[in-house]
Amino acid sequence: MMKSLLHYLSPFTLFLLVVLASCRPIDENKYLEEGVSKLLATYRNATIRDVSYRLSFNIPDTKEKPISGHSIIEFTLDSRREPLLIDFRAPEDHLESLTVNGQTLPAEIINGHIVIPGKHLRRSYNRVETEFRAGDMSLNRNDDYLYTLFVPDRASTAFPCFDQPDIKARYHLTLDIPPGYRAMSNSPASDIDSTGSSIRIRFSETKPISTYLFAFAAGRFDLIEKEIDGVKMEMLHRETRKGYIENNAEEIFRLHLSSLRWLEKYTDIRYPFEKFGFVLIPSFQYSGMEHPGSIFYRASSLLLEASPTLNERLSRASLIAHETSHLWFGDLVTMRWFDDVWLKEVFAGYMADKIVNPDFPDINHDLRFFLSRYPAAYSVDRTRGSNPVIQQLDNMKDAGSLYGAIIYNKAPIVMRLLEQITGEDALQQGIQVYLKTYSWSNASWDDLITILAEVSFKPLEEWSRMWMREAGMPVIMTEVTGDSAGYMIRFSEKDPEGGVRHWPQTLKAMVITPNDTVTGEIIAGDRNSYITVPEMPLCIIPDISGMGYGTFLSDSLSMKYLTDSISTVDEPLLRGVVWVNLFENLINGTIRPLAMYDAVFRALATEEDLQLRNHLAGRLSDIYWNYLSASERTEAAGEAETFAWDMVKSASDRSEQRTWFTLFRNVALTDTGISLLKETWVRGELPGGNELSEDDLCTLSLVLALKGHRDWQSITDAQRLRITGKDRLARYDFVLPSVSPGGSVRDAFFNTLHDPVNREHEPWVLEALGYLHHPLSADSSLRYIPASLEMLEEIKSTGDIFFPGGWISATLAGHHSPEAREMVEKFLEENPDYPADLRLKILQAADHLFRTDFNVNNTAEQPQKSVN
Ligand SMILES: [Zn+2]
Repeated sequence: MMKSLLHYLSPFTLFLLVVLASCRPIDENKYLEEGVSKLLATYRNATIRDVSYRLSFNIPDTKEKPISGHSIIEFTLDSRREPLLIDFRAPEDHLESLTVNGQTLPAEIINGHIVIPGKHLRRSYNRVETEFRAGDMSLNRNDDYLYTLFVPDRASTAFPCFDQPDIKARYHLTLDIPPGYRAMSNSPASDIDSTGSSIRIRFSETKPISTYLFAFAAGRFDLIEKEIDGVKMEMLHRETRKGYIENNAEEIFRLHLSSLRWLEKYTDIRYPFEKFGFVLIPSFQYSGMEHPGSIFYRASSLLLEASPTLNERLSRASLIAHETSHLWFGDLVTMRWFDDVWLKEVFAGYMADKIVNPDFPDINHDLRFFLSRYPAAYSVDRTRGSNPVIQQLDNMKDAGSLYGAIIYNKAPIVMRLLEQITGEDALQQGIQVYLKTYSWSNASWDDLITILAEVSFKPLEEWSRMWMREAGMPVIMTEVTGDSAGYMIRFSEKDPEGGVRHWPQTLKAMVITPNDTVTGEIIAGDRNSYITVPEMPLCIIPDISGMGYGTFLSDSLSMKYLTDSISTVDEPLLRGVVWVNLFENLINGTIRPLAMYDAVFRALATEEDLQLRNHLAGRLSDIYWNYLSASERTEAAGEAETFAWDMVKSASDRSEQRTWFTLFRNVALTDTGISLLKETWVRGELPGGNELSEDDLCTLSLVLALKGHRDWQSITDAQRLRITGKDRLARYDFVLPSVSPGGSVRDAFFNTLHDPVNREHEPWVLEALGYLHHPLSADSSLRYIPASLEMLEEIKSTGDIFFPGGWISATLAGHHSPEAREMVEKFLEENPDYPADLRLKILQAADHLFRTDFNVNNTAEQPQKSVN
């Protein structure tokens, strides 16, 4: 029985038992430090329960006026051994009054906490009442709307709370809003009072949810309500352009409903929350955020243009399925601590793939999974800044750094490997047990793996350790031995960190000889695992299944064979696998950029698969700008433009035509090409009458300025007048200086970014940085690198979770010079105590700069020349 008891205690409970059992006092510095330390969270989780918040906010009619708030927190306390800490990360004067169990106490904030000594508390029911001014940091206040975004630990910037995922609470929210405003929150409005000068909305009590999931939005929104198949849905939006709502609303509701129904069936749990709603927010920081009852989306992710590409339709369906999945995975059952945040993300991604597939029967879904996950996961996992799926987190204030390509892309890959081991049915069964066991509560990865091992009868510990707790990926190379009597092909596995780590996985290798093609299952690094063939191989592909994960470096013979004849491979998934692996070879210097560029260029003309064509079009632009030398690019430009424009003219449908036009816009570099861009902008449509959207025209005008068209000033002036809608004009005006040919205008723009107020619209900033640091401007934007590195730490403290990584990637991606590398190296050298999470982000973003020394086949030539 001992085993089963320990078995069901979480690592946190075990840790707490140790802490409580030892008579040593708690480490006060850690307990009281800024943010929510793991120590504080563990103690609070063990001693606080049955929490509810009665919250009210008074929202004024302009964003300059303060938002006043009132809160009553009720809870049961099991220990008064330590002072009670309530998190409130606002300036001192924002806490106006504090009453604990009827007794008025001094309203003080220490290190972002309200500290209540044990003597004022009861070892039972407690009531803490505060009046406060809400901190604006996570309220995203705009002229006529605002919305909360509290993930991962930002609720405490707005109101006093226990800001950790494993203290779930019920919320009773009251909002006072100006006339003309609408509002949405997690639960339905139960009561609306209108007094003339304001509207008071009371929302009904929520189910128990974590602080990061509590949300509301209020402002001048339009409301659409819909009931399909007995499910009521509501949507708030601010779209004013003609056709966007008409063309999309129906599909948005339909996709939500079909995701919801699918999840109910898969999990065997009815939709757990009181209502189902979503808010479409212009320039929302993420594609979507899964607040129960009130999912927030970036409006442009759902409101597609008139002839959306297949990719856009797929991405939208996936996004809706992803966010809806979170209502079970993340909202109903939540991680105990944010180190397991990847778990909710991987489930949402895994479910989204399963949900979306039946809606797109014409799509090769294995190829889609491969193309959407592997390159993105590799882009981080190949770098010195990579991190494991499960990362250590000592304090909630660093939780934002956990997010990135590893949890969004590698974790789903690993999940699929897990499904391969357990089987699909056992996995579903395990997930149902997990969700039912931990409903309205919290669970960790170890809780799940314990259940899965039980239902599948498979030992999963070593597998989990290697794939979940180790960073990086194996380097796999082929070894051919033998002579005319026969050849033996083995696959070596190298730990990129120089260690002896082995990643458990089975590969499906293919060996092509002049007269035969042989496939076989192999384990890399195992001397007893090999393939034999009678003739010298022409080409060896270490994995054709699309499941293998690692850097697969090819020998020169295979490389030649593949670049020459990849178009003759029948199976699209295999072509995808080969292209992705060839790109990794390019990055590792085993294939020259020009050879790779030529191969992609030739393949694009004949590739029939739409997904692969989109992938290759993106790769072609990437290689063109980031791997070819300036002279190689100049030489390639004319042919690339002619090709892309011919494809634009001959495209068989509108979305295909837009894909080709995007390629044309990216590669256009000659005077002829740039004139053609201008003519297209003037006409506002593509050949055949395919009208360009307002966003397309905005981008086109900015690209014309970036590429130095002599009329850039009159073009952008005219474009400003064409823009309908305040939000879009504000964005355009924000980005415009970043493409100015005037160095002083760009300098002035960059300087404005020092002020956090000017970084509030993060997608705008990232778009502007992309132009500012475009390879065409890289010489003159080098000077912004040191300051951008300096600002990163502050950006982490003021920006949202994806912003530090986005900021540094957008800054460095277009640079390929030794000077840029020296700047990064110097910064890292001069800051040896720099926060580890940000150091990793820099190493990820600068990876291409550290790889400029690779030699091709040990010749003296450098494959990756500077483009400057
Ligand atoms: Zn998610």
